[in-house]
Amino acid sequence: MLNKPRLLTPGPTPLPEQVRLALAQDMIHHRKAAFKDIMLRVQGKLRTLFGTEQPVLPLSCSGTGAMTAAVHSLFAPGDKVLVVNGGKFGERWQQIAAARGLECVLLDVPWGRAVEPAAVEKALEADPGISGVLMQLSETSTGVLHPVRDVAAITRTRDVLLVADGISAVGLSPCPMDDWGIDCLLTGSQKGLMLPPGLALLALSARAWRKAEAIPSGCFYFNLPKERDNLAKGQTLFTSPVNLLVGLDVSLDMLLKDGLEAIYRKQWALTMLTRTALAVMGLELFAPSHFAWGITSVRLPAGIDGVEVLRLAQEKYGIIMAGGQDQLKGRIVRIGHMGWVDWADVAAGLFALDRCIFAVGGYSGARDYLEQGLAAYEAALALPPGTPVVRRHN
Ligand SMILES: *Cc1c(COP(=O)(O)O)cnc(C)c1O
Repeated sequence: MLNKPRLLTPGPTPLPEQVRLALAQDMIHHRKAAFKDIMLRVQGKLRTLFGTEQPVLPLSCSGTGAMTAAVHSLFAPGDKVLVVNGGKFGERWQQIAAARGLECVLLDVPWGRAVEPAAVEKALEADPGISGVLMQLSETSTGVLHPVRDVAAITRTRDVLLVADGISAVGLSPCPMDDWGIDCLLTGSQKGLMLPPGLALLALSARAWRKAEAIPSGCFYFNLPKERDNLAKGQTLFTSPVNLLVGLDVSLDMLLKDGLEAIYRKQWALTMLTRTALAVMGLELFAPSHFAWGITSVRLPAGIDGVEVLRLAQEKYGIIMAGGQDQLKGRIVRIGHMGWVDWADVAAGLFALDRCIFAVGGYSGARDYLEQGLAAYEAALALPPGTPVVRRHN
């Protein structure tokens, strides 16, 4: 069928035309003046995006590379860290930390739930040897948004570095690094930033920089103090991902045009659209309370094969969504509403999901899920500017 393919996945995400055209420009040399100008121009915009006075380092790798760079730069073998483990990406922190020879204390959280800040505090009190907390903002495997702000309020008064994986949160929901007291915030290009995969961004707090300078880097490629010194000259240590940075210059202009609040409000409204429609369809939302703003995960009715639902959605409607991982395979659908995705894409995705669940034997009987979802979207967008988009800081 001649459907337009629509990526409703939690990365990679669709690209705006302006970004694709920027990516297609002639190559420029990464050690020459024109490129340095772009690097320095992008810096100011990145600091706004991250909410920090510190430099934001571009790294040539996927998001996991930045996670690796953080662990290898901020901790030495034998250091002890607390890992918030509530999904696949929490597990990844543990695997990276183990590879660096760190001792991991795991704070297990049931999939679909957010960590309790009090549990983090208790774990830190119980073991004063812990020198870092590794966690996600948005745990993309479950659609949960962990309360990083509340955890930062605990770590910032202690000698404990808070490392936050914001790969599916930066540019999607608020995470002002300096205000909250995050010590390391990192993200990747292919989620909220409307770029192809391959570029990661990472910033450290002043105290995290002191730690990074004090310990020998565990890795030749990721040397954050050297990257920072080069960045001051508009350079990266090795060959820069030139096109991605040219694209980033354009995508940041789009994101910042009406202020970050406008982006967060759009993301909140898309989340309300999705959650409202799914609830009207009678489906159970997998993250009941602390939910991410760029992805919604939903449980399928018993007996419905999620793998088949996703296959049909792609084949019949051109809609590409993500399924569950590990024990959730075939049991949940993860609808990405991040990057260059708008209400019409999401409405199309919800329609396809409803039709495909029906096709494999589920029937909700719900008729007005799109009408109600779109009403929730409009109501969320219509809030007067300056209205906080979250009541509880989830
Ligand atoms: C996508 C994602 C990652 C992995 O990023 P890669 O670019 O695939 O390395 C890590 N953490 C979170 C929260 C993510 O959403």
